[in-house]
Amino acid sequence: MVATEVADQLGGLVQRLRSDGGFTVIELMVVVLIIGVLATMAAGSYWFTTSRTYAVTCRSNRATFESAVSMFRAAHEQVDPLVIDDLAPYVQNFDHSVKCPEDPNVRLELDTATMRVVCPNHPD
Ligand SMILES: [Zn+2]
Repeated sequence: MVATEVADQLGGLVQRLRSDGGFTVIELMVVVLIIGVLATMAAGSYWFTTSRTYAVTCRSNRATFESAVSMFRAAHEQVDPLVIDDLAPYVQNFDHSVKCPEDPNVRLELDTATMRVVCPNHPD
């Protein structure tokens, strides 16, 4: 008896859901809200990852240039390079590497006092 009553109630519920023919406005708004929150989280994560990738690439390029300073000194009797363009023969793909990956209009610079290669965008 109890089983048949539950089955009848479930059947009625299923019948009512089928006959409504769709979702309410509130249900649709909740779904849109959830999708919006998830999209915001994904966009923030994408931005953070992209920014971090640029910073790491820039640091790697600067390390390459600082190795090129050593090669320049070895080839020129321990004389220091005067500008970063002096390192061009020692860095593959110089024209690409000398630009900051985050902003191609920003060029890396050689600090002649410390012989470090610096980027205005990434001062670390
Ligand atoms: Zn940079």
